[in-house]
Amino acid sequence: MYKLVPSVCSYCGTGCGVLFEVLDGRILGTLPLKTHPVNEGKLCIKGWNLHEYVNSFMRLQAPRVRINGRLHQVTWDRAIQFAADRLKKVIAEHGPDSVGVLASAKITNEENYLLQKFARAAVGTNNVDHCARL
Ligand code: SF4
Repeated sequence: MYKLVPSVCSYCGTGCGVLFEVLDGRILGTLPLKTHPVNEGKLCIKGWNLHEYVNSFMRLQAPRVRINGRLHQVTWDRAIQFAADRLKKVIAEHGPDSVGVLASAKITNEENYLLQKFARAAVGTNNVDHCARL
């Protein structure tokens, strides 16, 4: 069954409206959403190719942790615990300003807010930057 599914482009914070072309549950293409107030039927080249990463064989579908120099697929619980333990160790040994947090244009304003809050309130550093400045 073919259908068009409205969504929002996830490549940057502009938030352009798109229509995914879906055939039998598989996303095949991306079209601009003409009625969306942000992009009014226009997309940049990244937006036109938004569907490609969903089905890419290169896409990571589970977290990985490097143990003894090799990457191992782990559960989200294990990956988050690993990251928390390593962050605590670095902060204990070198202080909170030894940690930096890089936010992203590919996440929402709310998620970026939470990221800087995490850096300042949980880690205790003002070392926060954003990929748009890189
Ligand atoms: S289509 Fe381009 S400008 Fe619009 S949200 Fe996606 S990446 Fe950003």
